Amino acid sequence: MIFNDGESVKRFVLIVEDELINREILGAMLEDNYHILYAVNGVEALETLKENGSMVSVVLLDLMMPEMNGFEVIEAMKQDGQLRHIPIIVLTSEEDAEVKTLNLGASDFIKKPYNYPDVIKARIARTIEFSEDRYFIESNERDQLTGLYNKTFFYKYAEMIDKYHPDLRTDAVILNVEHFHLVNEIYGRSFGDRVLVTIADSIREFISGSEGLAGRSEADSFFIYISHNASYDGLTELIRTRLADLSRTLHIRIRIGVYPKVEHELPMEERFSDARFACNTLRGNYLRSIAYYDMSLREHSIFEEHMISDIHEGLEKEQFIVVYQPKYDVSGSDPLLCGIEAYVRWNHPTYGMIRPKSFLSVFEQNGLIHLLDHYVIGKAIRQLAAWHKEINLSVPMSVNISRINLYDSDFADFLRGNLSECGLTSADLILEITESAYSSDTRQLIDAVERLRRIGFKIEMDDFGSGYSSLTSLTSMPIDVLGLDAGFVTSIHEDDKIHRLVNLIKDIADYMGVPVNAEGVELATQYDLLKEIGCRYMQGYYFTKPLPADEFRIYLEDMC
Ligand code: C2E
Ligand code: MG
Ligand code: MG
Repeated sequence: MIFNDGESVKRFVLIVEDELINREILGAMLEDNYHILYAVNGVEALETLKENGSMVSVVLLDLMMPEMNGFEVIEAMKQDGQLRHIPIIVLTSEEDAEVKTLNLGASDFIKKPYNYPDVIKARIARTIEFSEDRYFIESNERDQLTGLYNKTFFYKYAEMIDKYHPDLRTDAVILNVEHFHLVNEIYGRSFGDRVLVTIADSIREFISGSEGLAGRSEADSFFIYISHNASYDGLTELIRTRLADLSRTLHIRIRIGVYPKVEHELPMEERFSDARFACNTLRGNYLRSIAYYDMSLREHSIFEEHMISDIHEGLEKEQFIVVYQPKYDVSGSDPLLCGIEAYVRWNHPTYGMIRPKSFLSVFEQNGLIHLLDHYVIGKAIRQLAAWHKEINLSVPMSVNISRINLYDSDFADFLRGNLSECGLTSADLILEITESAYSSDTRQLIDAVERLRRIGFKIEMDDFGSGYSSLTSLTSMPIDVLGLDAGFVTSIHEDDKIHRLVNLIKDIADYMGVPVNAEGVELATQYDLLKEIGCRYMQGYYFTKPLPADEFRIYLEDMC
Protein backbone atom coordinates (compact mmCIF):
# COMPACT_ATOMS: atom_id res chain seq x y z
CA MET A 1 0.00 0.00 0.00
CA ILE A 2 2.86 2.34 0.71
CA PHE A 3 5.00 3.69 -2.11
CA ASN A 4 8.26 5.23 -1.04
CA ASP A 5 9.61 7.55 -3.74
CA GLY A 6 12.86 8.26 -2.00
CA GLU A 7 12.42 11.35 0.04
CA SER A 8 8.78 11.49 1.04
CA VAL A 9 6.23 8.70 1.10
CA LYS A 10 3.68 9.35 -1.65
CA ARG A 11 0.62 7.09 -1.72
CA PHE A 12 -1.35 5.99 -4.76
CA VAL A 13 -4.92 7.14 -5.14
CA LEU A 14 -7.29 5.68 -7.71
CA ILE A 15 -9.92 8.06 -8.98
CA VAL A 16 -12.88 6.29 -10.56
CA GLU A 17 -15.07 8.82 -12.28
CA ASP A 18 -16.74 8.84 -15.71
CA GLU A 19 -16.89 12.63 -16.09
CA LEU A 20 -13.65 14.09 -17.38
CA ILE A 21 -14.09 17.46 -15.67
CA ASN A 22 -14.55 15.88 -12.26
CA ARG A 23 -11.52 13.63 -12.78
CA GLU A 24 -9.41 16.63 -13.67
CA ILE A 25 -10.54 18.75 -10.72
CA LEU A 26 -9.82 15.98 -8.24
CA GLY A 27 -6.54 15.03 -9.92
CA ALA A 28 -5.28 18.60 -9.85
CA MET A 29 -6.30 18.91 -6.23
CA LEU A 30 -4.37 15.83 -5.16
CA GLU A 31 -1.41 15.48 -7.49
CA ASP A 32 1.05 17.30 -5.25
CA ASN A 33 0.52 14.82 -2.46
CA TYR A 34 -0.37 11.58 -4.25
CA HIS A 35 0.35 9.50 -7.29
CA ILE A 36 -2.91 9.43 -9.20
CA LEU A 37 -4.38 6.54 -11.16
CA TYR A 38 -7.58 7.03 -13.17
CA ALA A 39 -10.45 4.79 -14.26
CA VAL A 40 -13.53 5.88 -16.19
CA ASN A 41 -15.92 3.17 -15.10
CA GLY A 42 -16.25 0.21 -12.71
CA VAL A 43 -14.82 -2.37 -15.08
CA GLU A 44 -11.69 -0.33 -15.68
CA ALA A 45 -11.41 0.36 -11.96
CA LEU A 46 -11.33 -3.33 -11.12
CA GLU A 47 -8.80 -4.00 -13.87
CA THR A 48 -6.54 -1.26 -12.54
CA LEU A 49 -6.91 -2.60 -9.01
CA LYS A 50 -6.11 -6.13 -10.11
CA GLU A 51 -2.86 -4.81 -11.56
CA ASN A 52 -1.89 -2.25 -8.93
CA GLY A 53 -4.10 -3.15 -5.99
CA SER A 54 -1.27 -3.69 -3.55
CA MET A 55 -0.04 -0.12 -4.16
CA VAL A 56 -3.36 1.69 -3.98
CA SER A 57 -3.99 3.38 -0.65
CA VAL A 58 -7.49 4.63 -1.34
CA VAL A 59 -10.14 4.49 -4.06
CA LEU A 60 -12.22 7.58 -4.77
CA LEU A 61 -15.33 6.16 -6.33
CA ASP A 62 -18.13 7.77 -8.25
CA LEU A 63 -21.43 5.94 -7.91
CA MET A 64 -23.19 6.70 -11.17
CA MET A 65 -21.13 5.33 -14.03
CA PRO A 66 -21.77 3.39 -17.23
CA GLU A 67 -20.76 -0.29 -17.61
CA MET A 68 -20.41 -0.97 -13.91
CA ASN A 69 -21.57 1.44 -11.26
CA GLY A 70 -19.94 2.27 -7.94
CA PHE A 71 -22.17 -0.01 -5.84
CA GLU A 72 -21.10 -3.00 -7.92
CA VAL A 73 -17.44 -2.00 -7.60
CA ILE A 74 -17.78 -1.91 -3.79
CA GLU A 75 -19.37 -5.33 -3.75
CA ALA A 76 -16.75 -6.84 -6.03
CA MET A 77 -13.94 -5.38 -3.94
CA LYS A 78 -15.40 -6.72 -0.69
CA GLN A 79 -15.51 -10.19 -2.14
CA ASP A 80 -11.90 -10.12 -3.27
CA GLY A 81 -9.39 -11.15 -0.59
CA GLN A 82 -6.72 -8.83 -2.06
CA LEU A 83 -8.91 -5.76 -2.50
CA ARG A 84 -11.13 -6.10 0.55
CA HIS A 85 -8.84 -4.01 2.72
CA ILE A 86 -8.45 -0.98 0.41
CA PRO A 87 -10.55 1.88 1.78
CA ILE A 88 -13.14 3.48 -0.51
CA ILE A 89 -14.32 7.05 -0.43
CA VAL A 90 -17.54 7.58 -2.31
CA LEU A 91 -17.97 10.65 -4.52
CA THR A 92 -21.60 11.60 -4.48
CA SER A 93 -24.10 14.41 -4.73
CA GLU A 94 -27.05 12.42 -3.45
CA GLU A 95 -27.94 12.62 0.22
CA ASP A 96 -29.40 9.11 0.63
CA ALA A 97 -26.58 7.37 -1.25
CA GLU A 98 -24.24 8.33 1.56
CA VAL A 99 -25.96 6.08 4.08
CA LYS A 100 -26.29 3.28 1.57
CA THR A 101 -22.61 3.36 0.64
CA LEU A 102 -21.42 3.59 4.21
CA ASN A 103 -23.56 0.57 4.98
CA LEU A 104 -22.03 -1.26 2.05
CA GLY A 105 -18.61 -0.77 3.58
CA ALA A 106 -17.25 2.48 2.15
CA SER A 107 -15.08 4.37 4.61
CA ASP A 108 -16.26 7.90 3.90
CA PHE A 109 -17.83 10.12 1.26
CA ILE A 110 -16.99 13.38 -0.50
CA LYS A 111 -19.75 15.66 -1.61
CA LYS A 112 -19.90 16.94 -5.19
CA PRO A 113 -19.24 19.60 -6.33
CA TYR A 114 -15.76 19.79 -4.88
CA ASN A 115 -16.00 23.13 -3.20
CA TYR A 116 -13.70 22.64 -0.21
CA PRO A 117 -10.32 21.22 -1.33
CA ASP A 118 -8.83 21.32 2.17
CA VAL A 119 -11.72 19.32 3.62
CA ILE A 120 -11.40 16.76 0.81
CA LYS A 121 -7.62 16.42 1.31
CA ALA A 122 -8.08 16.04 5.06
CA ARG A 123 -10.71 13.33 4.60
CA ILE A 124 -8.50 11.38 2.21
CA ALA A 125 -5.45 11.68 4.49
CA ARG A 126 -7.43 10.57 7.53
CA THR A 127 -8.96 7.58 5.73
CA ILE A 128 -5.54 6.38 4.58
CA GLU A 129 -4.06 6.84 8.03
CA PHE A 130 -6.91 4.96 9.65
CA SER A 131 -6.76 2.05 7.21
CA GLU A 132 -2.98 1.75 7.52
CA ASP A 133 -3.26 1.60 11.29
CA ARG A 134 -5.84 -1.12 10.97
CA TYR A 135 -3.74 -2.98 8.42
CA PHE A 136 -0.77 -2.78 10.75
CA ILE A 137 -2.82 -4.17 13.65
CA GLU A 138 -4.29 -6.92 11.51
CA SER A 139 -0.96 -8.01 10.10
CA ASN A 140 0.31 -8.17 13.64
CA GLU A 141 -2.51 -10.23 15.02
CA ARG A 142 -2.97 -12.57 12.10
CA ASP A 143 -0.88 -15.32 10.66
CA GLN A 144 0.15 -14.07 7.22
CA LEU A 145 -0.31 -17.39 5.43
CA THR A 146 -3.76 -18.46 6.56
CA GLY A 147 -5.26 -15.23 7.88
CA LEU A 148 -6.09 -16.96 11.17
CA TYR A 149 -5.09 -15.33 14.45
CA ASN A 150 -1.60 -15.86 15.73
CA LYS A 151 -1.28 -17.54 19.10
CA THR A 152 -1.02 -14.40 21.25
CA PHE A 153 -4.05 -12.71 19.74
CA PHE A 154 -5.96 -15.97 19.57
CA TYR A 155 -5.68 -16.33 23.35
CA LYS A 156 -6.59 -12.67 23.82
CA TYR A 157 -9.76 -12.95 21.75
CA ALA A 158 -10.66 -16.32 23.24
CA GLU A 159 -10.63 -14.63 26.62
CA MET A 160 -12.95 -11.99 25.21
CA ILE A 161 -15.43 -14.71 24.23
CA ASP A 162 -15.43 -15.81 27.88
CA LYS A 163 -15.83 -12.25 29.03
CA TYR A 164 -18.78 -11.41 26.82
CA HIS A 165 -20.42 -14.85 27.00
CA PRO A 166 -19.70 -16.05 30.54
CA ASP A 167 -22.41 -18.71 30.38
CA LEU A 168 -21.37 -20.16 27.05
CA ARG A 169 -20.03 -23.72 27.19
CA THR A 170 -16.90 -23.78 25.12
CA ASP A 171 -14.43 -26.36 23.78
CA ALA A 172 -10.69 -25.88 23.41
CA VAL A 173 -9.55 -27.73 20.31
CA ILE A 174 -6.08 -28.40 18.94
CA LEU A 175 -5.69 -29.69 15.43
CA ASN A 176 -2.41 -31.14 14.22
CA VAL A 177 -1.16 -32.45 10.92
CA GLU A 178 0.77 -35.66 11.41
CA HIS A 179 4.26 -35.57 9.90
CA PHE A 180 3.64 -32.24 8.20
CA HIS A 181 7.36 -31.79 7.56
CA LEU A 182 7.11 -34.78 5.21
CA VAL A 183 4.45 -33.00 3.13
CA ASN A 184 6.91 -30.11 2.74
CA GLU A 185 9.80 -32.40 1.97
CA ILE A 186 7.95 -34.57 -0.53
CA TYR A 187 5.68 -32.05 -2.28
CA GLY A 188 7.59 -28.81 -1.70
CA ARG A 189 6.96 -25.83 0.54
CA SER A 190 4.42 -24.06 -1.61
CA PHE A 191 2.24 -27.15 -1.76
CA GLY A 192 2.66 -27.46 2.02
CA ASP A 193 1.40 -23.88 2.29
CA ARG A 194 -1.64 -24.76 0.19
CA VAL A 195 -2.39 -27.66 2.50
CA LEU A 196 -2.26 -25.33 5.51
CA VAL A 197 -4.45 -22.73 3.81
CA THR A 198 -6.95 -25.45 2.87
CA ILE A 199 -7.11 -26.66 6.46
CA ALA A 200 -7.47 -23.09 7.71
CA ASP A 201 -10.32 -22.44 5.24
CA SER A 202 -12.06 -25.65 6.32
CA ILE A 203 -11.78 -24.61 9.96
CA ARG A 204 -13.18 -21.17 9.12
CA GLU A 205 -16.09 -22.85 7.36
CA PHE A 206 -16.66 -25.17 10.31
CA ILE A 207 -16.75 -22.38 12.88
CA SER A 208 -18.82 -19.97 10.80
CA GLY A 209 -22.24 -19.74 12.28
CA SER A 210 -21.13 -20.61 15.80
CA GLU A 211 -19.47 -18.54 18.45
CA GLY A 212 -15.84 -19.33 17.79
CA LEU A 213 -12.44 -18.35 16.52
CA ALA A 214 -9.37 -20.02 15.14
CA GLY A 215 -5.62 -19.51 15.22
CA ARG A 216 -2.45 -21.13 13.99
CA SER A 217 1.00 -21.54 15.40
CA GLU A 218 4.08 -23.68 14.87
CA ALA A 219 3.33 -24.38 11.23
CA ASP A 220 0.98 -27.30 11.56
CA SER A 221 -0.86 -26.57 14.79
CA PHE A 222 -4.30 -25.00 14.70
CA PHE A 223 -6.28 -23.71 17.67
CA ILE A 224 -10.05 -23.47 17.83
CA TYR A 225 -12.08 -21.98 20.65
CA ILE A 226 -15.70 -22.60 19.97
CA SER A 227 -19.13 -23.12 21.54
CA HIS A 228 -19.45 -26.75 22.61
CA ASN A 229 -19.94 -29.35 19.88
CA ALA A 230 -21.03 -32.90 20.61
CA SER A 231 -18.84 -34.13 17.78
CA TYR A 232 -15.96 -32.97 15.62
CA ASP A 233 -16.47 -35.62 12.96
CA GLY A 234 -17.87 -32.89 10.71
CA LEU A 235 -14.59 -31.00 10.91
CA THR A 236 -12.42 -33.99 10.02
CA GLU A 237 -14.78 -34.84 7.19
CA LEU A 238 -14.69 -31.29 5.85
CA ILE A 239 -10.89 -31.17 5.94
CA ARG A 240 -10.66 -34.59 4.33
CA THR A 241 -12.96 -33.53 1.47
CA ARG A 242 -11.18 -30.22 0.89
CA LEU A 243 -7.75 -31.87 0.93
CA ALA A 244 -9.00 -34.52 -1.49
CA ASP A 245 -10.01 -31.66 -3.82
CA LEU A 246 -6.45 -30.39 -3.56
CA SER A 247 -4.86 -33.71 -4.40
CA ARG A 248 -6.27 -37.19 -4.88
CA THR A 249 -3.02 -38.92 -4.02
CA LEU A 250 -2.30 -36.98 -0.86
CA HIS A 251 -2.73 -38.87 2.40
CA ILE A 252 -2.67 -36.49 5.28
CA ARG A 253 -3.64 -37.54 8.75
CA ILE A 254 -5.23 -34.97 11.00
CA ARG A 255 -5.20 -35.36 14.78
CA ILE A 256 -7.72 -33.48 16.86
CA GLY A 257 -7.53 -33.08 20.63
CA VAL A 258 -10.61 -31.66 22.32
CA TYR A 259 -10.94 -30.38 25.83
CA PRO A 260 -14.75 -30.18 25.94
CA LYS A 261 -16.72 -27.75 28.10
CA VAL A 262 -13.61 -26.14 29.50
CA GLU A 263 -13.25 -25.12 33.14
CA HIS A 264 -13.41 -21.34 33.03
CA GLU A 265 -11.18 -21.12 36.12
CA LEU A 266 -8.24 -22.56 34.19
CA PRO A 267 -5.97 -20.12 32.34
CA MET A 268 -6.57 -20.17 28.58
CA GLU A 269 -3.12 -21.62 27.83
CA GLU A 270 -3.69 -24.49 30.21
CA ARG A 271 -6.98 -25.40 28.53
CA PHE A 272 -5.16 -25.72 25.25
CA SER A 273 -2.30 -27.63 26.79
CA ASP A 274 -4.92 -30.14 27.98
CA ALA A 275 -6.39 -30.31 24.47
CA ARG A 276 -2.87 -30.83 23.12
CA PHE A 277 -2.32 -33.56 25.67
CA ALA A 278 -5.39 -35.40 24.34
CA CYS A 279 -4.18 -34.77 20.80
CA ASN A 280 -0.77 -36.30 21.55
CA THR A 281 -2.36 -39.52 22.77
CA LEU A 282 -3.30 -40.11 19.11
CA ARG A 283 0.32 -40.28 17.94
CA GLY A 284 0.77 -43.44 15.94
CA ASN A 285 -2.88 -44.40 16.43
CA TYR A 286 -4.23 -44.96 12.94
CA LEU A 287 -7.70 -45.94 14.02
CA ARG A 288 -8.82 -42.73 15.69
CA SER A 289 -8.31 -39.11 14.75
CA ILE A 290 -10.13 -37.37 17.62
CA ALA A 291 -9.31 -37.66 21.31
CA TYR A 292 -11.09 -36.03 24.22
CA TYR A 293 -9.41 -34.81 27.33
CA ASP A 294 -10.62 -35.72 30.75
CA MET A 295 -8.90 -35.71 34.09
CA SER A 296 -8.34 -39.46 34.07
CA LEU A 297 -6.19 -39.08 30.97
CA ARG A 298 -3.73 -36.81 32.72
CA GLU A 299 -3.91 -38.84 35.92
CA HIS A 300 -3.13 -41.92 33.90
CA SER A 301 -0.12 -40.28 32.32
CA ILE A 302 1.13 -39.08 35.73
CA PHE A 303 0.67 -42.65 36.97
CA GLU A 304 2.72 -43.96 34.05
CA GLU A 305 5.46 -41.42 34.71
CA HIS A 306 5.60 -42.65 38.30
CA MET A 307 5.87 -46.24 37.10
CA ILE A 308 8.87 -45.33 34.98
CA SER A 309 10.62 -43.21 37.59
CA ASP A 310 9.99 -45.72 40.41
CA ILE A 311 10.95 -49.00 38.75
CA HIS A 312 14.65 -48.91 39.70
CA GLU A 313 13.93 -48.25 43.35
CA GLY A 314 11.17 -50.88 43.21
CA LEU A 315 13.62 -53.49 41.97
CA GLU A 316 16.29 -52.49 44.49
CA LYS A 317 13.89 -52.59 47.41
CA GLU A 318 12.23 -55.77 46.19
CA GLN A 319 8.81 -54.16 45.93
CA PHE A 320 8.12 -56.53 43.05
CA ILE A 321 6.58 -59.73 44.32
CA VAL A 322 6.19 -62.97 42.44
CA VAL A 323 2.98 -64.93 42.94
CA TYR A 324 2.38 -68.51 41.85
CA GLN A 325 -0.56 -70.39 40.41
CA PRO A 326 -0.69 -74.16 39.93
CA LYS A 327 -1.36 -75.77 36.56
CA TYR A 328 -3.14 -79.08 36.43
CA ASP A 329 -3.18 -81.98 34.02
CA VAL A 330 -6.85 -82.96 33.92
CA SER A 331 -6.62 -85.85 31.46
CA GLY A 332 -6.85 -88.47 34.22
CA SER A 333 -9.71 -89.03 36.63
CA ASP A 334 -8.28 -86.51 39.15
CA PRO A 335 -6.43 -83.29 38.36
CA LEU A 336 -2.70 -83.74 38.71
CA LEU A 337 -0.34 -80.85 39.50
CA CYS A 338 1.82 -80.47 36.41
CA GLY A 339 3.30 -76.99 36.60
CA ILE A 340 3.36 -73.58 38.23
CA GLU A 341 3.00 -70.19 36.59
CA ALA A 342 4.77 -67.16 38.02
CA TYR A 343 3.16 -63.69 37.79
CA VAL A 344 4.53 -60.41 38.95
CA ARG A 345 2.86 -57.88 41.31
CA TRP A 346 4.17 -54.50 42.39
CA ASN A 347 3.68 -53.53 45.99
CA HIS A 348 4.11 -49.85 45.26
CA PRO A 349 4.65 -47.47 48.22
CA THR A 350 2.00 -45.01 46.92
CA TYR A 351 -0.37 -47.05 44.79
CA GLY A 352 -0.40 -50.27 46.80
CA MET A 353 -0.50 -53.70 45.15
CA ILE A 354 -0.65 -53.26 41.36
CA ARG A 355 -1.35 -55.91 38.72
CA PRO A 356 0.92 -56.14 35.68
CA LYS A 357 -1.59 -54.80 33.17
CA SER A 358 -1.05 -51.32 34.70
CA PHE A 359 2.67 -51.20 34.07
CA LEU A 360 3.63 -53.88 31.54
CA SER A 361 2.80 -51.89 28.42
CA VAL A 362 4.68 -48.83 29.75
CA PHE A 363 7.76 -50.93 30.42
CA GLU A 364 7.39 -52.72 27.11
CA GLN A 365 7.37 -49.39 25.28
CA ASN A 366 10.57 -48.12 26.84
CA GLY A 367 12.45 -51.41 27.19
CA LEU A 368 12.40 -51.43 31.00
CA ILE A 369 10.49 -54.71 30.85
CA HIS A 370 13.85 -56.31 30.20
CA LEU A 371 14.94 -55.50 33.79
CA LEU A 372 11.65 -56.61 35.29
CA ASP A 373 11.50 -59.93 33.44
CA HIS A 374 15.06 -60.74 34.45
CA TYR A 375 14.15 -60.00 38.05
CA VAL A 376 10.97 -62.13 38.00
CA ILE A 377 12.54 -65.03 36.11
CA GLY A 378 15.54 -65.02 38.49
CA LYS A 379 13.23 -65.13 41.52
CA ALA A 380 10.97 -67.81 40.05
CA ILE A 381 13.92 -70.06 39.20
CA ARG A 382 15.40 -69.73 42.71
CA GLN A 383 12.00 -70.41 44.22
CA LEU A 384 11.51 -73.52 42.12
CA ALA A 385 14.95 -74.80 43.15
CA ALA A 386 14.06 -74.18 46.80
CA TRP A 387 10.79 -76.13 46.49
CA HIS A 388 12.58 -78.92 44.66
CA LYS A 389 14.82 -79.31 47.69
CA GLU A 390 12.42 -78.47 50.49
CA ILE A 391 9.25 -80.27 49.47
CA ASN A 392 10.49 -82.52 46.73
CA LEU A 393 8.50 -80.76 44.04
CA SER A 394 9.29 -81.86 40.52
CA VAL A 395 7.12 -79.82 38.12
CA PRO A 396 8.35 -77.10 35.75
CA MET A 397 7.89 -73.36 36.29
CA SER A 398 6.16 -71.26 33.61
CA VAL A 399 7.31 -67.67 33.21
CA ASN A 400 5.81 -64.95 31.04
CA ILE A 401 8.23 -63.53 28.53
CA SER A 402 7.96 -60.19 26.81
CA ARG A 403 8.77 -60.11 23.14
CA ILE A 404 11.71 -57.76 23.65
CA ASN A 405 13.63 -60.53 25.49
CA LEU A 406 13.36 -62.79 22.50
CA TYR A 407 15.33 -60.34 20.40
CA ASP A 408 18.06 -60.24 23.02
CA SER A 409 20.87 -62.56 21.95
CA ASP A 410 22.01 -63.01 25.58
CA PHE A 411 18.60 -64.13 26.80
CA ALA A 412 19.21 -67.87 26.41
CA ASP A 413 22.51 -67.56 28.27
CA PHE A 414 20.80 -65.60 31.01
CA LEU A 415 18.20 -68.36 31.43
CA ARG A 416 20.71 -71.18 31.36
CA GLY A 417 23.06 -69.35 33.74
CA ASN A 418 20.31 -68.85 36.31
CA LEU A 419 19.07 -72.41 35.98
CA SER A 420 22.48 -74.02 36.30
CA GLU A 421 23.36 -71.86 39.34
CA CYS A 422 20.40 -73.51 41.04
CA GLY A 423 21.07 -76.99 39.71
CA LEU A 424 18.18 -76.89 37.25
CA THR A 425 17.96 -77.34 33.46
CA SER A 426 15.97 -75.91 30.58
CA ALA A 427 13.45 -78.72 31.07
CA ASP A 428 12.44 -77.03 34.33
CA LEU A 429 11.29 -73.83 32.65
CA ILE A 430 8.37 -73.22 30.29
CA LEU A 431 8.35 -69.91 28.45
CA GLU A 432 4.94 -68.32 27.86
CA ILE A 433 4.80 -65.93 24.95
CA THR A 434 1.56 -64.15 24.10
CA GLU A 435 -0.05 -64.74 20.76
CA SER A 436 0.12 -61.00 19.94
CA ALA A 437 3.92 -61.28 20.01
CA TYR A 438 3.73 -63.80 17.19
CA SER A 439 1.62 -61.50 15.04
CA SER A 440 4.45 -59.05 14.41
CA ASP A 441 7.91 -59.64 12.91
CA THR A 442 6.92 -63.27 12.50
CA ARG A 443 10.11 -64.53 10.90
CA GLN A 444 12.52 -63.02 13.40
CA LEU A 445 10.38 -64.19 16.29
CA ILE A 446 10.02 -67.73 15.00
CA ASP A 447 13.82 -67.94 14.63
CA ALA A 448 14.32 -66.78 18.21
CA VAL A 449 11.74 -69.26 19.54
CA GLU A 450 13.27 -72.08 17.49
CA ARG A 451 16.68 -71.40 19.05
CA LEU A 452 15.21 -71.58 22.55
CA ARG A 453 13.45 -74.84 21.77
CA ARG A 454 16.61 -76.36 20.36
CA ILE A 455 18.30 -75.88 23.72
CA GLY A 456 15.47 -77.58 25.52
CA PHE A 457 12.94 -74.93 26.56
CA LYS A 458 9.25 -75.65 26.09
CA ILE A 459 7.13 -72.85 24.68
CA GLU A 460 3.48 -72.09 25.47
CA MET A 461 1.59 -69.71 23.25
CA ASP A 462 -0.23 -67.62 25.83
CA ASP A 463 -3.71 -66.11 25.45
CA PHE A 464 -4.44 -67.82 22.16
CA GLY A 465 -7.51 -66.33 20.49
CA SER A 466 -6.96 -62.80 21.81
CA GLY A 467 -4.48 -61.85 19.08
CA TYR A 468 -4.65 -61.63 15.34
CA SER A 469 -2.56 -64.51 14.06
CA SER A 470 -3.63 -65.87 10.75
CA LEU A 471 -4.28 -69.57 10.72
CA THR A 472 -1.59 -70.26 8.15
CA SER A 473 1.14 -68.48 10.10
CA LEU A 474 -0.14 -69.99 13.33
CA THR A 475 0.16 -73.56 12.19
CA SER A 476 3.84 -73.06 11.39
CA MET A 477 4.58 -71.67 14.87
CA PRO A 478 7.11 -73.61 16.89
CA ILE A 479 5.16 -74.18 20.12
CA ASP A 480 4.64 -76.99 22.62
CA VAL A 481 1.39 -75.93 24.29
CA LEU A 482 -1.48 -73.77 23.13
CA GLY A 483 -2.80 -71.58 25.95
CA LEU A 484 -6.49 -70.85 25.42
CA ASP A 485 -7.29 -67.23 26.25
CA ALA A 486 -9.29 -66.83 29.46
CA GLY A 487 -11.84 -64.79 27.51
CA PHE A 488 -13.21 -68.00 25.98
CA VAL A 489 -13.30 -69.80 29.29
CA THR A 490 -15.32 -67.04 31.00
CA SER A 491 -18.39 -67.58 28.85
CA ILE A 492 -18.03 -71.12 27.55
CA HIS A 493 -20.82 -72.39 29.80
CA GLU A 494 -23.36 -69.76 28.72
CA ASP A 495 -22.57 -69.01 25.09
CA ASP A 496 -22.96 -71.77 22.55
CA LYS A 497 -20.93 -69.91 19.92
CA ILE A 498 -17.96 -69.70 22.27
CA HIS A 499 -18.38 -73.37 23.08
CA ARG A 500 -18.15 -74.21 19.38
CA LEU A 501 -15.16 -71.90 18.93
CA VAL A 502 -13.28 -73.67 21.69
CA ASN A 503 -14.01 -76.98 19.95
CA LEU A 504 -12.55 -75.46 16.80
CA ILE A 505 -9.44 -74.26 18.65
CA LYS A 506 -9.01 -77.76 20.06
CA ASP A 507 -9.10 -79.09 16.47
CA ILE A 508 -6.40 -76.60 15.47
CA ALA A 509 -4.26 -77.67 18.41
CA ASP A 510 -4.76 -81.31 17.40
CA TYR A 511 -3.70 -80.44 13.87
CA MET A 512 -0.55 -78.80 15.26
CA GLY A 513 0.00 -81.77 17.54
CA VAL A 514 0.01 -79.74 20.76
CA PRO A 515 -2.14 -79.92 23.92
CA VAL A 516 -4.43 -77.08 25.07
CA ASN A 517 -4.04 -75.30 28.38
CA ALA A 518 -7.23 -73.49 29.48
CA GLU A 519 -6.59 -70.40 31.63
CA GLY A 520 -8.95 -68.62 34.00
CA VAL A 521 -11.10 -71.61 34.89
CA GLU A 522 -13.27 -70.51 37.78
CA LEU A 523 -16.34 -72.75 37.79
CA ALA A 524 -17.03 -76.45 37.90
CA THR A 525 -19.25 -76.10 34.79
CA GLN A 526 -16.38 -74.54 32.88
CA TYR A 527 -14.06 -77.26 34.10
CA ASP A 528 -16.46 -80.03 32.97
CA LEU A 529 -17.06 -78.53 29.52
CA LEU A 530 -13.34 -77.95 28.87
CA LYS A 531 -12.49 -81.46 30.00
CA GLU A 532 -15.19 -82.85 27.73
CA ILE A 533 -13.75 -80.93 24.77
CA GLY A 534 -10.37 -82.41 25.56
CA CYS A 535 -8.34 -79.57 27.07
CA ARG A 536 -5.46 -81.34 28.73
CA TYR A 537 -4.27 -78.61 31.11
CA MET A 538 -6.15 -76.12 33.24
CA GLN A 539 -5.44 -73.37 35.71
CA GLY A 540 -7.57 -70.75 37.41
CA TYR A 541 -9.39 -69.68 40.57
CA TYR A 542 -11.30 -72.98 40.42
CA PHE A 543 -8.10 -74.46 41.90
CA THR A 544 -6.65 -71.36 43.52
CA LYS A 545 -5.79 -67.73 42.95
CA PRO A 546 -2.11 -66.92 42.41
CA LEU A 547 -0.42 -66.98 45.83
CA PRO A 548 2.78 -65.54 47.28
CA ALA A 549 5.60 -68.10 47.76
CA ASP A 550 4.97 -68.88 51.44
CA GLU A 551 1.21 -69.34 50.98
CA PHE A 552 1.76 -71.37 47.84
CA ARG A 553 4.00 -73.76 49.77
CA ILE A 554 1.26 -74.26 52.36
CA TYR A 555 -1.22 -74.83 49.52
CA LEU A 556 1.07 -77.51 48.02
CA GLU A 557 1.60 -79.19 51.39
CA ASP A 558 -2.17 -79.28 52.00
CA MET A 559 -2.67 -80.92 48.61
CA CYS A 560 -0.38 -83.82 49.41
P1 C2E B 1 -1.41 -64.45 31.58
O1 C2E B 1 -0.05 -65.01 31.55
O2 C2E B 1 -2.35 -64.93 30.56
O3 C2E B 1 -1.95 -64.67 33.02
C1 C2E B 1 -3.28 -64.92 33.37
C2 C2E B 1 -3.83 -63.81 34.19
O4 C2E B 1 -5.09 -64.18 34.70
C3 C2E B 1 -3.01 -63.44 35.42
O5 C2E B 1 -3.24 -62.07 35.65
C4 C2E B 1 -3.67 -64.24 36.53
O6 C2E B 1 -3.46 -63.67 37.80
C5 C2E B 1 -5.11 -64.18 36.10
N1 C2E B 1 -5.88 -65.33 36.50
C6 C2E B 1 -5.48 -66.59 36.77
N2 C2E B 1 -6.55 -67.37 37.03
C7 C2E B 1 -7.64 -66.61 36.91
C8 C2E B 1 -9.05 -66.85 37.05
O7 C2E B 1 -9.51 -67.94 37.33
N3 C2E B 1 -9.88 -65.81 36.85
C9 C2E B 1 -9.40 -64.58 36.53
N4 C2E B 1 -10.28 -63.61 36.34
N5 C2E B 1 -8.09 -64.31 36.37
C10 C2E B 1 -7.22 -65.32 36.58
P2 C2E B 1 -2.09 -61.08 35.98
O8 C2E B 1 -1.19 -61.68 37.00
O9 C2E B 1 -2.69 -59.75 36.23
O10 C2E B 1 -1.26 -61.05 34.64
C11 C2E B 1 -1.76 -60.51 33.47
C12 C2E B 1 -0.83 -60.72 32.34
O11 C2E B 1 0.37 -60.04 32.54
C13 C2E B 1 -0.40 -62.17 32.18
O12 C2E B 1 -1.36 -62.85 31.44
C14 C2E B 1 0.92 -62.08 31.51
O13 C2E B 1 0.75 -61.98 30.11
C15 C2E B 1 1.45 -60.78 32.03
N6 C2E B 1 2.44 -61.01 33.07
C16 C2E B 1 2.26 -61.37 34.36
N7 C2E B 1 3.45 -61.44 35.00
C17 C2E B 1 4.40 -61.13 34.08
C18 C2E B 1 5.86 -61.02 34.12
O14 C2E B 1 6.53 -61.26 35.13
N8 C2E B 1 6.48 -60.67 32.97
C19 C2E B 1 5.78 -60.45 31.83
N9 C2E B 1 6.46 -60.10 30.74
N10 C2E B 1 4.45 -60.51 31.75
C20 C2E B 1 3.77 -60.86 32.88
MG1 MG C 1 0.86 -66.60 31.09
MG1 MG D 1 -2.77 -66.17 29.55
